[in-house]
Amino acid sequence: MKVKRVKGSTFCIDTGMTYIPFYKINEREIIMLDTGWAGERRGINEILQRNGFKVKGIICTHGHIDHVGNNSYLKEKYGCNIAMPAYEAFICSSAVNLKLYYNNQTLSDIKEHFGSMICKTDIMILNHQHSVSVGGVEFKIIHTPGHSPAHICIITPDDVAYLGDSLIGYEVMKGAKMPYAYILTEDLKSKKKLYGLNFSEYIVAHRGIFDNITKLVADNINFYKTRVEKIYDIISGSMTMEEIMKSVIKKFKLHVNSKYKYAVMTKMLESYVQYLDEMGVIKLGVDNGALKYSKIKYTD
Ligand SMILES: [Zn+2]
Repeated sequence: MKVKRVKGSTFCIDTGMTYIPFYKINEREIIMLDTGWAGERRGINEILQRNGFKVKGIICTHGHIDHVGNNSYLKEKYGCNIAMPAYEAFICSSAVNLKLYYNNQTLSDIKEHFGSMICKTDIMILNHQHSVSVGGVEFKIIHTPGHSPAHICIITPDDVAYLGDSLIGYEVMKGAKMPYAYILTEDLKSKKKLYGLNFSEYIVAHRGIFDNITKLVADNINFYKTRVEKIYDIISGSMTMEEIMKSVIKKFKLHVNSKYKYAVMTKMLESYVQYLDEMGVIKLGVDNGALKYSKIKYTD
């Protein structure tokens, strides 16, 4: 892991998997924007210790395991405040609340796989809020729901926009087979909203630093739409969600070898299938007690 300077007092930790931005208040105190995955904890700790940093505050873009995984640990270690969009904060407040989100998994599985997400948020960021003050520093907020229910982008005082997971970088696009979106219709709307931004630098969590994102936004929208088309192509005749999943696993060459992975992949697939439904190109019907998905064929 290493530290990269982005602009002024805005830096990021390159974990190899993710960019975790931070803002230096002074030589010793920092505000972290997201805290990474629990599996990255040792490396993050080493960076903080080597530089003599004290975490004064945390602002999270959204409540996903690779963005809030060290919230509780760092809060306990440094006694810092956590700020997060209110809806994401409620979800991360307990294992029972996490089940709202991971509703196709048991409470025990959630505790085992997602326990590191549980944390106490001190500052709730509401939907109408356009800035948040943490550790005496004011950060602007842009609401970009879709990837998760209340995802936000965070702007540092250096005019650097941290875009979290509202976009993915080119490296990830090469490897991602079915990238996640909670509600794809909303996610695409938020991506389009990013065309209007005009900041000095942009940080994408997975993974890149850009001074202009116009092409990246277009490529992201195109990338997700291509995935939607591939899933649409898979649907033939009338299929259950399980049958679609089976075909997707085969066609996309996905490695789904545990019930845990299956549950995660189902969640991902459902959002693409729901998108097709919202676009009015597939229909759902009950056939012999089974829910079936089929293409709508338009005739002139
Ligand atoms: Zn995410």
